[in-house]
Amino acid sequence: MPSLTGDVTPDLQFFNIIDGKIRPAKEHHQVVNPRTEEPLWDAPVASSQDLDDAVEAARRAFKTWKKTTVAERQAKIDEVARCIEKNKKLLSEILMQETGKPQMMAENEIDRTVAHFDYYLNVALEDEVQYEDEKTTVIATHVPIGVLGAISPWNFPVILSSIKVVSALATGNCVIIKPSPFTPYSLLKLCEVAQSVLPPGVFQALNGGADLGERITLHPGVDHVSFTGTIAVGRRIMENCARTFKRVILELAGNDAAVVCDDVDLARVVPLVAAGALTHAGQVCVASKRVYVHEAVYDRFLALLVDEVRKYAGHDDPSVPTPCGPISNRVNYDRLRGILDDCRKNNHDIVAGGEVLSGKKGFWITPTIVSKPPEDSFLVREEQFGPIIPLLSWSDEDDVIARANSLDNAGLGASVWTADAARAQRIARQLEAGSVWINQPELPHQGSFFSGWKLSGYGGELGRRGLLNYTNTQSLLIAK
Ligand code: NAD
Repeated sequence: MPSLTGDVTPDLQFFNIIDGKIRPAKEHHQVVNPRTEEPLWDAPVASSQDLDDAVEAARRAFKTWKKTTVAERQAKIDEVARCIEKNKKLLSEILMQETGKPQMMAENEIDRTVAHFDYYLNVALEDEVQYEDEKTTVIATHVPIGVLGAISPWNFPVILSSIKVVSALATGNCVIIKPSPFTPYSLLKLCEVAQSVLPPGVFQALNGGADLGERITLHPGVDHVSFTGTIAVGRRIMENCARTFKRVILELAGNDAAVVCDDVDLARVVPLVAAGALTHAGQVCVASKRVYVHEAVYDRFLALLVDEVRKYAGHDDPSVPTPCGPISNRVNYDRLRGILDDCRKNNHDIVAGGEVLSGKKGFWITPTIVSKPPEDSFLVREEQFGPIIPLLSWSDEDDVIARANSLDNAGLGASVWTADAARAQRIARQLEAGSVWINQPELPHQGSFFSGWKLSGYGGELGRRGLLNYTNTQSLLIAK
């Protein structure tokens, strides 16, 4: 057991949360801390009976919860947010252990989670007049769908789960969430502490793997599903949901292009592009995964980037403030080693990094730059989800836009870097991605609708617009 401090003790226990209570499990699995490879706590595995019980409790709770007013629900969201704030130390320390994140990043994830809850204290779906004439008024009212099955990944276990939870709470849905089995602890604990302020059955959490995920998506008592993860699993979930016509939101992988023009201030822009590509060792859905730099500034950009990426090497001591830790689990670590092997096998030009620190405990890969790999190489075509940057060059605007848009897995985000505001919007508006950041690294914002196009997703979350995907809109056509 790793050395733990403060609120986090080795004998901390984790439970599935069903109907407002902790539910001890018969079966458990263990996760290792990716920084030290030391085993963490027992993680409960939910059974089929646990899922049936959670669905039954959610359906019971929904009868009352769906009738609450926006103001009543916002009061509860406020209480959950304050509860998370109060438990920040506990939750961020658990998060550090299960993801390997440095303290600064773990605390930031909890702060941003609270910010997402707080955002929905002022943003809601109220009734609206859709149409009116002398004979009729048509009102749109946004009705909760029912029981939400939410399934989340391991890279930001608290915030990505919380977006689904707060969206469900804000719209009057009940939610059962399944965290990734790589990072089950922080979310189970968050759900546990939130029970003190929420009615039983409104927010429940069950841990398990793909088999539990499948059962959630096929369960007749689950009305809709919100999923964040890979394209392959997203496709499977959509197929399963189609059988019972469950509504589905899919937030999937990205292969974001960063387009850097020749007029940028390199000293300012290179550190920002590096942050977009390497924060959390590149394990971010909207990380810059293909960096296209104008040929006129390519060599100078590369020289500055080689210096800059050293800052993302990660640090043994998690209390050192840095935006980068180890690779978060062995599966991703082995996959990334395979990508580096592929680069070497194909004689790609690795100009920085490329080292796997296998002599050291934990899953560490040094930040890597690969200069001008072929456009059809594995590193460019596929989402690397790690600290390996393919640096490509361009000289014609239409050509770089076509290359940025050429991949079906690149519909999530993109960024454009230029001193010319009109040029920035001209390029951004032609990029086929749900969010485009202009002169800033890709960081989703609670007020900004977030959706993947093409293979990167279906539906979307966040902002006021995101709440619509958690509701059925009913039209009331009222004769005057
Ligand atoms: P994953 O698809 O392997 O797993 C995600 C979740 O799905 C986990 O909880 C897993 O247990 C569950 N699951 C696996 N098989 C299932 C099945 N058959 N039915 C139901 N559930 C199943 O993804 P991951 O490796 O945890 O996450 C990394 C991926 O997520 C990357 O591709 C990344 O780009 C993407 N991601 C997307 C966003 C976004 O908002 N678009 C955000 C973060 C991560």
